[in-house]
Amino acid sequence: MAEVIPLRKRKPCPICKRVSTQEFHPFCSKRCADEDLNHWLGGKYAIPVAETDEDGSDSAT
Ligand SMILES: [Zn+2]
Repeated sequence: MAEVIPLRKRKPCPICKRVSTQEFHPFCSKRCADEDLNHWLGGKYAIPVAETDEDGSDSAT
């Protein structure tokens, strides 16, 4: 029996675009994970008036 482990497409760290690690997925490091967290916490106090949707184009192959 052959154990075939499918290769997952790893998404890059949304903060710095580096390769994400399993430990801090989907980020590359704790620093970026914290940064993302701060981003959300910060938004609590300063809500940006943006009319954009979180829709972006992510299918750029
Ligand atoms: Zn990062």
